[in-house]
Amino acid sequence: LIKIVDLEKHYNGGKIKALDGVTVDIDKGDVMVVIGPSGSGKSTFLRSLNLLEEPTGGAIIFDDVDITKKKYKDKNGKWVKVNMDLHRQKMGMVFQHFNLFPHMTIMENMILAPVKVKNVPEEEAKKKALELLKRVGLEDRANSYPIQLSGGQKQRIAIVRALMMEPEVMLFDEPTSALDPEMVGEVLDVMKQLAAEGMTMVVVTHEMGFAREVGNRVLFMADGKLLEQGTPSEVFEHPKHPRLQEFFSKVL
Ligand code: ATP
Ligand code: MG
Repeated sequence: LIKIVDLEKHYNGGKIKALDGVTVDIDKGDVMVVIGPSGSGKSTFLRSLNLLEEPTGGAIIFDDVDITKKKYKDKNGKWVKVNMDLHRQKMGMVFQHFNLFPHMTIMENMILAPVKVKNVPEEEAKKKALELLKRVGLEDRANSYPIQLSGGQKQRIAIVRALMMEPEVMLFDEPTSALDPEMVGEVLDVMKQLAAEGMTMVVVTHEMGFAREVGNRVLFMADGKLLEQGTPSEVFEHPKHPRLQEFFSKVL
């Protein structure tokens, strides 16, 4: 689904290598969990995938189109402009801090992008929003404002809001790390449910339990490099790289 080739993001003329040659394929249905110490480039990696950050090198080939280029050659050899907005729509993103619009109700937050960006009729968008809210047990909160909800509820809303756009991939950047401990479970449960439905997901998290239980692949990053990857049992039971062994000795 997404081929990432030698991806680089350098700052300050190459003095800071936030991403330093990451190559990995994300297949349909993958639940890819990205772990690693602070500053290792995990957020930069996620943000580069939907071009919130512009990579300074390498390629991201999404549905056969290199989205780091401005144009690509189609099947007939014709040059076509890359439609960045379309590619962004295919990726839903959930951040540590929910990013709901505070002056809008939950329903207004949910239907904003589909109505404005995809021209979905408002009634249809509302119907879909209610279905999604029901799935996360929050249909009675449609007319509430974000400030009236708990952190866990806001994050569940942020997830279903991203689903409104029917993305092909969901990107999560530490979705539970700003939550009180008792709310972590309810958000992870929604993510587990999504994974079980076959959603392709890339999840940056410190929740090692989730990584082991729900992930089908685990990537370990340090210093902007992908140092190790494998199935959860390979990575957790037989970590090879000394940096990964050291990381586990601190977090497990
Ligand atoms: P954390 O676990 O703390 O969220 P991370 O693995 O997500 O860390 P990144 O946020 O991707 O790490 O940062 C990777 C590196 O890039 C860090 O050294 C960071 O200081 C650097 N960096 C990130 N953004 C910028 C920027 N705008 N300008 C300069 N350096 C940056
Ligand atoms: Mg980060």
